[in-house]
Parts: sequence; structure tokens; C-alpha cells
Amino acid sequence: MAKLAGPMEIYPLLPGTNCKICGEANCMAFAAKMAEHTVKLTDCTPLYEEEKYAKNRAKLEELLRPPVREVVIGTGEKTVAIGGKLVLYRHDLRYTNPTAFFIDIADNLDAEAFEKRVKAIEDWTYVYIGQGLRLDGVALRCVSKDPQTFANAAKKLIGLTDWPIMLCSLDAKLLSAAATAIADKRPLLYAATVDTWSELGKIAAKHDLPIVAYAPNNLSDLASLATTLQAMGVHDIVLDPGTLSRSALGTTVDNFNQLRRAATIADNEQVGYPLLCTPISVWADYKEGDAPELTKWDEVLTAAAMIVRYADIIVLHSLDMWTNLPLTFLRSNLYTDPVKPVSVQPGLIKFGDAGPDSPVMYTTNFALTYFTVESDIKQGNVDAWLLVIDTEGMSVQSAVAGRKLTAEKVAEAIQEYGLGEKVNHRIIISPGMAARISGETEEASGWTVKVGPRDSSGIPKYLQKELWKEE
Ligand code: SF4
Repeated sequence: MAKLAGPMEIYPLLPGTNCKICGEANCMAFAAKMAEHTVKLTDCTPLYEEEKYAKNRAKLEELLRPPVREVVIGTGEKTVAIGGKLVLYRHDLRYTNPTAFFIDIADNLDAEAFEKRVKAIEDWTYVYIGQGLRLDGVALRCVSKDPQTFANAAKKLIGLTDWPIMLCSLDAKLLSAAATAIADKRPLLYAATVDTWSELGKIAAKHDLPIVAYAPNNLSDLASLATTLQAMGVHDIVLDPGTLSRSALGTTVDNFNQLRRAATIADNEQVGYPLLCTPISVWADYKEGDAPELTKWDEVLTAAAMIVRYADIIVLHSLDMWTNLPLTFLRSNLYTDPVKPVSVQPGLIKFGDAGPDSPVMYTTNFALTYFTVESDIKQGNVDAWLLVIDTEGMSVQSAVAGRKLTAEKVAEAIQEYGLGEKVNHRIIISPGMAARISGETEEASGWTVKVGPRDSSGIPKYLQKELWKEE
């Protein structure tokens, strides 16, 4: 694997003044965080402001350059960054910039249908473990085959949304017309081929636009296209090696694998760019009378396979909850930091009109645990307090086993969040999975511990029947 720079390679190139401007205690601490890519080099402002550090800055930028370059689409607050990957395998560090989902819209839709689809793309959302899952951009397809219609639709689109846009046509004249019309919005151009690179490369270079190089199932043409575009002055390139038919999905996966391995393991700069996949291609085989659900299913399967196999951006047609929900779940799980469990803020949470006589429970700050318990309490429609204990994002069972949830921690949290001042009683309900520390907790806290249900789905019944008050 292309080696990630360690702190001892980074440190000698920093100013070494320990000025703390970056927010770290000294340059060594900054170097250690830089090696983990949890801070940005630009946080060391002296490096950028003082000319004497220019040489070292250039060396550091090269040393820390991700093997897959980052490409930004759009302008303003709604930009989306793709690529920027540092490693082939997530467990080697973490994946950055989650796969961006762009949904297509045809340029020849009537005004009402056009607006409705843009709104549906923007409104698609689902709350999952406390995060709002969303889509990322709109892919405007030239179906009209008319440059004026395509350019007008692009202008109409930027009037309706400030989301990142991708312009799609393999005809250079059509693509150029729309690209020129909305160049200041920095759309992603799809796509330059072996036949159109000259005309489209000039447009991308002139307006500094990101562009896709497309050579289906031909990796050497694709690498040449990327090299040529770069030589023309195009900075932001995305590679599309083709999303072949469902029966050739294995070949599609192989092509993506080869490109990403070449970039990250062999450090081949020629292909060190984000990868684009078009699961929407399955609709090319759709015929009048076919069941659309089967094609949607094919699209989801292709997208899921390619999200796992390094696609940095995908283009989809389906906009149903059932098609995009599993894909956004998959993306969310793949792009979490493998060494940092997803957690919530510890503290004391009030449900309903909880008051001095209301029950008090405790749980851990592992996000999945917290949101499951939260949902079960809300379903029970009861007034209650929930003490969320910092277990470094571990679930109840793992935290008890790993000594991250101990009697002392529960006692400390009771004190820290002033539980004694919120309620008149001194009874706390422990999760069923933490039953084995209930005796120690009583000793450490002075509170009576009632053991609640092992599964939080039992909480509503437990609270409604006021079982916690029984002797
Ligand atoms: S801002 Fe730069 S010079 Fe100052 S402590 Fe941080 S790394 Fe060192």
C-alpha cells in the first residue's frame, strides 16, 4: 500500500515553534494528529503565512496528498466533495467523503413534472441513528437532443435548487451548451470520451469545471484520457470505467478494483481520481410492459455492490424510499470511522413532563443503543428521565464487559448531572444487561437500583405498570 506519512516524517517539516496557533499543545502533537488525518495542514497558519516555510509546505502537501484526489462539485454551502481517499481498506484508517448519490432528471420534462422531481430529490430524507440521511445532487440528462432545450433546463434547474448538478450527455455540442450556460455553478460534466476530449477538455479547462472521463471497459483508454485532460489544464477529473449490464457486473467490479488498487497500492497518479458508477444504466434494458420493480431491484443491487467497491459517486434513477433507504444505510455504515463508535453526548435527558416523582433510567452513549431506548420510551408515552453515561460509545453489554460501564461511573454521572436535585426519590432503573453491577452501583451511589428489562422494547410496559416502584 502507498505508505501513509507518520508523525516522524511530518514533524521535521513543521515550523517547530510550538506556537499553539493550530490549537495543539506543540508541533509534535499536531504532527501526530496530521498522521491520522484528523486535522488539516492549513490549521498550521504560520506554514502558509510565512514565506520561509514555503519549501517545507510544498513537501508536506506532497507527503500528505491522498492517493485518490478530491473533487468538489457545486458552489456555496451545498457543495459535495468526492474521492480524497487515503486507503484501500477502511480498517487501515477510515474512508473519507461518502459516496455521493445523484438522481437523474430529464431535460424535456414539462415544467410541473420538472419542479416536482427536483423537490422530491431535495425532500428525500430519513433519520437513522440521529443522522438525517439525504441524497446529494441532481443529474440533468439531455433527452431532448437539443442544445437550447438542454441549456434552458440547466438554467431552470439552478433557479430551483442550489444543490450540486451534473450535466449528462455524450454529445460534445449538447454538453458544451449546458456547461457554458451554468458554468459559474461548477457542475460536473459527463462525459469526455476518446472522441470528444478535445472540445470538452477545453471547456472544462476554461471554466475550471470538474469533468468525467468515460471509456467503458477499457482501462488503458481511460488512463490516457485522464492524462490528456490533465495536460490540457483540467484539474478535477473523475473516472468512469463503465457500468456494464447486470450479467457483466463482475467485470464492472473488476475494473473498479483495478483502478482503486492501482491508485492506492501502486500509487499510480494517472488513475488517482474519484470513480463514478451509473447503476441507472440498468434502465436501458427496460421495455414497455416490464415490471419496473424488477429494474429498480437491479439498480439497487448494482449500486450496493459498487458502493462497497469504491464508487465515489453514483447516478440513480429510482427515488423510492425502499430503493434508496438500504443504499443510504450501507453508505452510512461503510463511512463511519471503524475505531470510533458512533456515540451521542452523555447527559440527563427529560422525556415528556418528567418531574420529581418520575422514573429515572440509565443507558450508555452508544448511538444505536441510545436511539433505540429513546424510541421505546417515546412509544410508551411516559414522563421519565434518562441518564446517558459516557462509555466511549459502547453498548451496555460490551461496556460492562470492558469496564467502561462501572458502578463508579454510574455514581459519578448521578452526581455530575445533578439527578438528586431533579427527583424526590432515590431509585434508578438499570438496563437488564447491566444487572450484574446493580449491587455495586447501590453501594457506590447510595441509590436503590431496580433492574429493568433486558430488551428496551419492554420499557413501556415496565414503566406504565410502575414496576420500578414495587418492593
Ligand atoms: S501552528 Fe504550526 S508551528 Fe504552531 S504549534 Fe501548530 S504545528 Fe507548530
